[in-house]
Amino acid sequence: METSYLIKYAEIGIKGKNKYKFEDALVKNIISRLRGVEGEFRVHKEQGRILVMPLSDYDRDELLTALIHIFGVAQVCPVTAIEDKSFDNVLSGLKDHILREIGDKEFTFKVFAKRGDKKYPIDSPEICREAGKYILDEIPGAKVDVHHPEYKVFVEIRREAYVYVSGVPAPGGMPVGTAGKAMLLLSGGIDSPVAGYRIAKRGVKIEAVYFHAPPYTSERAKQKVVDLAKIISEYTGPILLHVINFTDIQMAIYEKCPHDELTIIMRRYMMKIAQMIAKDRECLALVTGESIAQVASQTMQSLAATDAVCEMPVFRPLIAMDKKEIIEESEKIGAYETSILPYEDCCTIFVAKHPVTKPKLDRIEESEKNLTDVIDGLVKSAYETKEDIWVSSF
Ligand code: ATP
Ligand code: MG
Repeated sequence: METSYLIKYAEIGIKGKNKYKFEDALVKNIISRLRGVEGEFRVHKEQGRILVMPLSDYDRDELLTALIHIFGVAQVCPVTAIEDKSFDNVLSGLKDHILREIGDKEFTFKVFAKRGDKKYPIDSPEICREAGKYILDEIPGAKVDVHHPEYKVFVEIRREAYVYVSGVPAPGGMPVGTAGKAMLLLSGGIDSPVAGYRIAKRGVKIEAVYFHAPPYTSERAKQKVVDLAKIISEYTGPILLHVINFTDIQMAIYEKCPHDELTIIMRRYMMKIAQMIAKDRECLALVTGESIAQVASQTMQSLAATDAVCEMPVFRPLIAMDKKEIIEESEKIGAYETSILPYEDCCTIFVAKHPVTKPKLDRIEESEKNLTDVIDGLVKSAYETKEDIWVSSF
């Protein structure tokens, strides 16, 4: 009897003719994620399921932690394979499995059976009845609940017999890489890492760009962004982080444009540069951590003024979320502690006391004309001196 791990996936299952493409992508992502886990594993697809089989010693917690960080995985169930599938043997294997996975606490359950091997002498309803009775007799804490069982108990008779119970929940979503690539504007704050997590959960591969303004922002502020990229790379896979030195552009805006429009003009240049990198890197969209009305630069008018410089779609996964909800998600994905470290980001230094909240596009464009002589050169040199950092947590 050996333990392997059944990967349950939710949404991929409904993809019709293209299902195999999503499954193959998921298998590929699992294989690459497991390179960072001690031990050797075989990952394979059979009969519409993905199984991870350990081939050497391994640490179960380390393996499970890796598997439940992979988008597309909805649940991971440790499975016992029983080679000798005589029914008595299956039942005793089931008992051992339940004691190992659930322990001897009180719990409710319901049995589900599948008979892939049609020659097997006992049919599915009978397997359910007999296995249910056996569990009730043999495991003192077990109680049946056919409506809302805490544990579903599965018995599958295939070439071998497999038994397993409801497993460890994973984030679900779609395998990263199945929905194209996007460029995330990643700052050191709370929001943008969550935005990156959310978009990647839909299968979008991400790269990131950070606008750095030394000496106004410190090396530590930059390191914080690298650390945040590393935290989300746990879910998204390795991230290429582009660091743009934004100081000269910011100074030029500060010197030549009305101060109540600083933030909005700065954001327009961030978007323009992010878009240049995005096009180079074959990204199909930009992603930000903005949410309506969170700050002056996130009113609908301000968002429209930033969008006006973009030729590609700008996705804002947090657009209708409250700060509280964003913080909860940030905590859940393990980014919050890092996000709240107090290093200044480049926007906090140049913020006006009373920024415009309803910018008029023609006024903004008029103000930007003050930059005409210098801005192309500054953008070009910021772009050419960009630093690329590969960030990976495994
Ligand atoms: P965050 O918590 O993500 O920093 P925020 O509430 O501080 O967001 P803003 O500073 O207005 O909001 O930034 C809005 C969005 O613009 C961020 O979510 C991020 O996507 C992007 N952004 C802001 N500053 C930077 C930066 N220095 N580098 C890259 N992207 C940035
Ligand atoms: Mg910020």
